[in-house]
Amino acid sequence: MTSTTASHAADLVAALLFILSLAGLSQHRTSRAGVGYGIAGMALALVATIVLAAQSITAGAVALIIIAMALGGAMGLWRARQVEMTQMPELIAVLHSFVGLAAVLVGWDSYLEVESHGSAQTRIAADLLGIHHAEVFIGIFIGAVTFTGSIVAFLKLSARIASRPLTLPGKNALNLGALAAFAALTIWFTVSPALALMVAVTVLALALGWHLVASIGGGDMPVVVSMLNSYSGWAAAAAGFLLDNNLLIVTGALVGSSGAYLSYIMCKAMNRSFISVIAGGFGIEAPSRGDEEQGEHREIRAREAAELLAQASSVVITPGYGMAVAQAQHPVAELTRRLRERGVEVRFGVHPVAGRLPGHMNVLLAEAKVPYDIVLEMDEINDDFAETSVVLVIGANDTVNPAATDDPSSPIAGMPVLRVWEAEHVVVFKRSMASGYAGVQNPLFFRENSSMLFGDAKQSVDAILQALVDAGPHASGPAAQQTAAAG
Ligand code: NDP
Repeated sequence: MTSTTASHAADLVAALLFILSLAGLSQHRTSRAGVGYGIAGMALALVATIVLAAQSITAGAVALIIIAMALGGAMGLWRARQVEMTQMPELIAVLHSFVGLAAVLVGWDSYLEVESHGSAQTRIAADLLGIHHAEVFIGIFIGAVTFTGSIVAFLKLSARIASRPLTLPGKNALNLGALAAFAALTIWFTVSPALALMVAVTVLALALGWHLVASIGGGDMPVVVSMLNSYSGWAAAAAGFLLDNNLLIVTGALVGSSGAYLSYIMCKAMNRSFISVIAGGFGIEAPSRGDEEQGEHREIRAREAAELLAQASSVVITPGYGMAVAQAQHPVAELTRRLRERGVEVRFGVHPVAGRLPGHMNVLLAEAKVPYDIVLEMDEINDDFAETSVVLVIGANDTVNPAATDDPSSPIAGMPVLRVWEAEHVVVFKRSMASGYAGVQNPLFFRENSSMLFGDAKQSVDAILQALVDAGPHASGPAAQQTAAAG
């Protein structure tokens, strides 16, 4: 078997391993195996690509590739070890930007190679040059959109720029105009390629990527991250065509289509139009800012909150990003245990986009050993709030915002939220009156039945625990009293 045949066989096995990896990652139980298949597939793909490349390049060039891989691998390991779980989406956004940049560089390299050597000395047949030129243009376009889009996503997710949507006048016309200009430039370039056209398409796509993601509001960022994941897949597939690398085409298509499907599922869960989100908020005109205060809020102290909880028959805890920041999951689990000992029914309501990555809250609660059977999804708990004595909103904001259901002009209008305000009492744990990730003020804070417990969520929960300890071990809630009466 020649090394070329061996390399193609390895490509096939690597592609199968990637498919097994995706299948494994679709379930908790098999996710570790899924990661293992992915690592094995990528290792095999790298070895096969280098072995094949080694036939046509010098030993010095192979050494350079290995040095670059070692450096990149070391930096990747270092970053992955350092990153906090709350920073995962921003890390993923940065990684997508690398894929986009790589696709742009491959496109430029491919164009310059043909320009400097002519098609005769490259592997492209003269009558296929037009197709090659179109491939170059499409690869650069998708890559550059992914590059700047991912950088804006990184800046928004890491709070370096405001998450509020940018609403330039005629933003939909700008996006459509950019797409029309791209189509026209592609035809022009295919007929008569020129450096100026390469520069034009690169600048156009960089600007479009920036504008598309800047126009999307904070509440829709989870969908944007999976959408950019999809774009990075298509950018890799485009680079695969240019490099004549079948494995890159297959892998890019896998990432592109699975990312698109994930975006579609998330849009459905969040009641968003898929087309509108991928087209940079197409059809959504300037929403109201909605970050102004809307009345008087009431404050509550930890001791008073503890008294409220001790009297409650049912409590629902809705955690959010702030619980992750404060690392309050362990005291929250301890509070749950104590309240249940007192005969209070305690459950958790988890919103699908609470925190900063899908399943964020479930992971934290599992880490703190909160029993699975009391952790419910939004749809499972939403009808029960009306019969709940106390809701503890621990570091959540957008996911419990009534403006999503009550105010059609709100930037988060239509997004399904936890209807915590239907409960008898709501205690909101946060440090200030600041808005949530979407930059929208929350009318919940000003409702009659809401009280604000200001401070770091971990310290506040610890203080409530202490107050409960000080109050003594005896069960005092109505549920406990009923149990005692029955006994
Ligand atoms: P939000 O981001 O809306 O709000 C979190 C709140 O936590 C803030 O208002 C903040 O208020 C408070 N907070 C922060 N630190 C602390 C602390 N140490 N102690 C107490 N409170 C704290 O959270 P949600 O979980 O409700 O919503 C998630 C948002 O993130 C949604 O808009 C979602 O679309 C978006 N998003 C979700 C992703 C996902 O995949 N899950 C990915 C990307 C974005 P204060 O500063 O006053 O303390």
